[in-house]
Amino acid sequence: MQLNEERIQNIRDDFPILKETVYGKPLIYFDNAATTHKPVSVLHKIEFAYNHLNANIHRGTHYLSQKATEAHEGARNDIAQFIGAGKREEIIFTRGTTESINLIAFSYGEALCDEGDEILISAMEHHSNIVPWQMLCERKKMRLRVIPIHKNGEIDLDAYAKLLNDKTKLVAVTHVSNVLGTINPVRQMIDTAHRKNIPVLVDGAQAIPHIAVDVQALDADFYVFSGHKVYGPTGIGILYGKEQWLNQLPPYQGGGEMIEKVSFEKTTYNELPFKFEAGTPDYIGSTALAEALRYIGEIGMDAIVAYEHELTAYAIELMSEISGIQFIGTAHQKSAIISFTVNGIHPYDMGMLLDKLGIAVRTGHHCAQPLMDFLEIPGTVRVSFAFYNTKKEIDIFVAALKKVVAMLS
Ligand code: PLP
Repeated sequence: MQLNEERIQNIRDDFPILKETVYGKPLIYFDNAATTHKPVSVLHKIEFAYNHLNANIHRGTHYLSQKATEAHEGARNDIAQFIGAGKREEIIFTRGTTESINLIAFSYGEALCDEGDEILISAMEHHSNIVPWQMLCERKKMRLRVIPIHKNGEIDLDAYAKLLNDKTKLVAVTHVSNVLGTINPVRQMIDTAHRKNIPVLVDGAQAIPHIAVDVQALDADFYVFSGHKVYGPTGIGILYGKEQWLNQLPPYQGGGEMIEKVSFEKTTYNELPFKFEAGTPDYIGSTALAEALRYIGEIGMDAIVAYEHELTAYAIELMSEISGIQFIGTAHQKSAIISFTVNGIHPYDMGMLLDKLGIAVRTGHHCAQPLMDFLEIPGTVRVSFAFYNTKKEIDIFVAALKKVVAMLS
């Protein structure tokens, strides 16, 4: 169902925080790429789980523990289904995108990488998809190589194909850039890598909330995302990995849950997915994340994509009237993220003044310092939309931005 004004109003009523005021002004929240707000159904799920399902899972024979285990493992099934995973064992619960990438950088690095090997990332990666690979490269004396991007923020696919070689052990690339909004052609990039038998990890942190993702259709070897960016709670995230890869990798952390048998002489490890889930899992977070995915599934991904596209195009059209504005990232395939600078004005000053008008935007390097260096800018202002944002909010934002620019010029 298309998202019309009435439907959006109903959706907004599901998000209590949108009724907050900031410095006496109604909150306009355009920082959704950093984190999204939570619908009441997710908040209720958390409260319900603590009130009715709280017991440590897997190990208990008692009723409550079994109920909690069912909820947690049921959430795993729902999440597998949401991203089109073939098997529930391929869904590993982590703390978020960052931990998922660190897990693969460690375990894949331990098992399958040697001195002189290469990891290939792109110039538009978030620090979370740079630093873990740098750490691996330092540990194993490997080389981190970088796919350049074009001026409009699209990946240079010719350069990419040339960078893949016999030493490349893995490609790690973002599905959607958190700065440029570029939707990368990951299906095509995966095909190119697979022709050389190189696996690909896709950072889906900014994709899962905005586009339909089917990991099997993409043929991704690893796909990672965070719950808090997709209307779920903080502290929970997902690592999807093809069973054939995950089975080859050693555990990332040791502790309870991930073992089969422990003695002081030797420990054997549990099977998938538990091998990678040491310690008490966030069984409340998992059920709340599944609820968030159910909530957006009910709205419908097609409707979300169409509406956010409309919002983004509307904002770009109005913002284009501002003299001196420069959009950073003008790829043909773009998500609901707009980064910009205005000649002679520091992004931070714009962000500060917009905040005083009740408008939450993000300013700075957006955890992508190498991208800023590449673009030769110190930072940008970034607005990022969710399906609960409205054209009316964009009107208010653009009027405020015009005022702010006039003041600071
Ligand atoms: N990757 C991308 C593209 C992101 O935008 C972010 C967060 O902004 C991350 C990774 C890190 O996510 P988290 O901090 O939830 O682990």
